[in-house]
Amino acid sequence: MFFRIPISSYHQAAIVINLELILNSLGLQMENKHKLKIAFTVTFLAVASILLANKFRKHRKRKQNSTSCYLKSEAKPQHNFKRVLANNSYAPFKHLKLDENSSDLHPYESEIKALLEKLQLDIEFSNGSMDMKMSDKYVWVDDELKLKELVEVLSEERVFAVDTEQHSLRSFLGFTALIQISTRDEDYLVDTIAVHDIMGLLGPVFANPNICKVFHGADNDVIWLQRDFHIYVVNLFDTAKACDVLSKPQRSLAYLLETYCGVTTNKLYQREDWRQRPLPIDMVEYARMDAHYLLYIADCLVSELKNQKNDNSASENSATLDDDLHFVSEAIRRSNALCLQLFTKDLEASPGQSAAASMISRHLNDHGSSANNSQDLVRRLCCWRDLMARMHDESLKYVLSDNAIVSLAETVPLSPTDICTTLSQADIDTDFLNSNSTPRFPSSVVSSHLDDFPYLLQNETNNLDDLFQLILKKHIGPNGSCPFSLYNYGLLSKTNIKSSKRLVTKASGYKLSKQVARKASRELFVQKFSCKSPVYHNCRIYANDGRLLCYCDRRKLEWYVQRDLAKIVDEDPPAIMLLFEPKGRPEDEGNDFYIQSKKNICVGCGEGNHYLRYRIIPSCYRIHFPEHLKSHRSHDIVLVCVDCHEKAHSSAERYKKKVALEFGIPLFVHKVVNSNEQQDVSGSSTSVMKLGDCGVSPLELRTAAMALIRHGPRMPPQRREELKQVVKKYYGGREISEEDLEKALLVGMSPHEKRRLRKKRGISLNNTSSNNIVSDNDIKGEDNVDSYKNEVHEPENGSNLDITDPSEVEPNGQVHSSSDGAVFATCSSKLSLLGHGPHGKQVVDYLLKNHGEVGIQEFCQRWRQVFVESINPRFLPAGWDVTHSGRREFGDFSVYNPANKAPVATKD
Ligand code: AMP
Ligand code: ZN
Ligand code: MN
Repeated sequence: MFFRIPISSYHQAAIVINLELILNSLGLQMENKHKLKIAFTVTFLAVASILLANKFRKHRKRKQNSTSCYLKSEAKPQHNFKRVLANNSYAPFKHLKLDENSSDLHPYESEIKALLEKLQLDIEFSNGSMDMKMSDKYVWVDDELKLKELVEVLSEERVFAVDTEQHSLRSFLGFTALIQISTRDEDYLVDTIAVHDIMGLLGPVFANPNICKVFHGADNDVIWLQRDFHIYVVNLFDTAKACDVLSKPQRSLAYLLETYCGVTTNKLYQREDWRQRPLPIDMVEYARMDAHYLLYIADCLVSELKNQKNDNSASENSATLDDDLHFVSEAIRRSNALCLQLFTKDLEASPGQSAAASMISRHLNDHGSSANNSQDLVRRLCCWRDLMARMHDESLKYVLSDNAIVSLAETVPLSPTDICTTLSQADIDTDFLNSNSTPRFPSSVVSSHLDDFPYLLQNETNNLDDLFQLILKKHIGPNGSCPFSLYNYGLLSKTNIKSSKRLVTKASGYKLSKQVARKASRELFVQKFSCKSPVYHNCRIYANDGRLLCYCDRRKLEWYVQRDLAKIVDEDPPAIMLLFEPKGRPEDEGNDFYIQSKKNICVGCGEGNHYLRYRIIPSCYRIHFPEHLKSHRSHDIVLVCVDCHEKAHSSAERYKKKVALEFGIPLFVHKVVNSNEQQDVSGSSTSVMKLGDCGVSPLELRTAAMALIRHGPRMPPQRREELKQVVKKYYGGREISEEDLEKALLVGMSPHEKRRLRKKRGISLNNTSSNNIVSDNDIKGEDNVDSYKNEVHEPENGSNLDITDPSEVEPNGQVHSSSDGAVFATCSSKLSLLGHGPHGKQVVDYLLKNHGEVGIQEFCQRWRQVFVESINPRFLPAGWDVTHSGRREFGDFSVYNPANKAPVATKD
């Protein structure tokens, strides 16, 4: 429609010119010619407009018959982008490849690692003076010429300051809408919408290790620059990290601007729509300010870092940071470690289903058939929302809020009016709270595709794969209703994750080959033990001055809200603001790990389809730590996929053996022949062990015993002998009988599991208490994870895989523990029976006695190192650190304050 009008006027003009030629050739007088021309033109215009109007009417009619997508008439800035690196398909993001053979790790990994080794400031940060009044002069960069000039200027600089602004509501992944760059002489505002496709021109200066880039809080910026422009930051000085190293009372940019420059900012501008053009003058001012003073602030911080050595004798950092440049180096190290982060897309096996699972667990978790139906509807609506958001390049929140989905699923409105009423009612609160950032409801996606809803809400089939294909076909298929674009074309491609998933299910229908069987058993394991809904909800808690305190799960938010200690300030994802002054701010305490949003993906390889929690510090040790040292659990419990789990777990088991040797504390208590030689398993005495003798693990013992019982007579003699040795080792080396083998099957099982096995095997060994099996090691929580490969022991459910803290427990109580205290209580009765429990206790006791808490901290660091070396995790949350030790003090109202633990527990 937009194109037709200019084309018609062009034709018009052409006809007028031809007319002039004709009249000229007729030799008419000037004046008459003019009159005739007007007459002709008027007639022509009249005819043309009638034709146009007709055409338009027809067009409108057609439009009403099938729904027309709003995108056909709404222009969004990103539609002009011709080069989109991160589209909305389910295919993984492709990072810049500098040469064909390079792996798909960070393209500048070696450059960054070189900086991490050198840890020196090559640039003179002069602590010169600065005119605190910002002039009106700045450069708006919005075309290729200006961008090239900027690149010229920057490549001559040794250091420049950068900040970026982002738009996220009307885009699926979000996009950078503005980049502010300041040199010592000039402020540049790069209109990244106008020059989006050629932003790569800036890549070399950002990756140049000889040019230092100063950011404040670069975590997100680093990722966004990769995602939108393949720009990788190498050589970063992050003023927020410098604040951490200096233990500044606060580390926000607003604080630094006030203290060093005496200027105040209004951070509410962060939430403005940065796509606006021309950018309103007050937003230009705000944006410039974010970069304008950064070089001066960096000067001040660097000189403080350099001076720190003079008066650090009293500071607690002095033990670790002692030589001259250590403070500077530490700031550089923390800054450049940020640059190693890589952007990844959050991918899931079935579109929208992790959001659905979390909504169901929050709102629709009661049983009964009506609840079942609502749950199915939530799944269908989430599938639709995910796909529609990707196709139209809108955020999930813009398309349909979580509240709206739950309301639709509960009320099942069928007429367009009822649907709209349900939607606007569901979002009244959100609308009221964020009148400037949330759209009016229903969104244009919903209103222009209302005819999808009767199908979504009424149809019975619950096959989400089919639904997915249907939505896809209806909207962007060959005859689809919505525009095809750079953002959504990838959704139609065959390399969809769905096809690979289908292969797996098909394969399990055939006679299973060994490899397939293993794969199927892995699948089963994944189904059984992976987290059923997202672990991190990424809810936010703000202080009463609007500063972000931490990310956490919903339960923690509810805890504060129910006690009237906080008010809800955002719904999707939820955020609260505390009504009291919190004790300390994590960001001010060098604990920036706690204010990172965390992704629901494997920290090792980025797998997002399934993940399990993995404890980096094995629980046989951690369970014996003093309470306040356990509080770093969210740092030391990470998500990993089954494959990374297997690697990490087995290298941890190997390391445990090393620990056992090093400390001379055996991993397993030995079974002894005579009851009067029974060993003390309470863990209070330090048993002496022969080096190299680590006992037999219950799992190894049971597997060997089972194999001997089942296949003993048919086994090659050599193998039979090997297995016998395993069992004999347990029985102190004596010859073993059939009965010993049967008894060995029960070692390490819980009473419940024992009963089950006895029933299955039809044996009665009720008098186990009278025999002398003392090392009845309960391997729960230690080895279960490996058991999918093991035919003897099959765990009942996933609950004993995880003994986690409240911030990681799902509200539906999948993990049956509400606080560490409670876990300890339930475990303490079996304490002496935990697999490596006695070993763990002795090691921890030894460390505490001889090295105090520092000993425990160093011990934790060793385990983190083991973990890092076992799987080379590439997706650890920013701020995760092998040397993490930041202590957390808990305020009076904190959910972790031991005094507050009781109410949390009773709430369940
Ligand atoms: P800044 O680092 O303060 O310049 O923020 C950069 C971008 O992060 C902004 O343009 C926003 O897109 C986003 N952002 C930061 N803080 C918030 C917030 N509190 N709410 C919404 N968006 C935010
Ligand atoms: Zn559409
Ligand atoms: Mn900014």
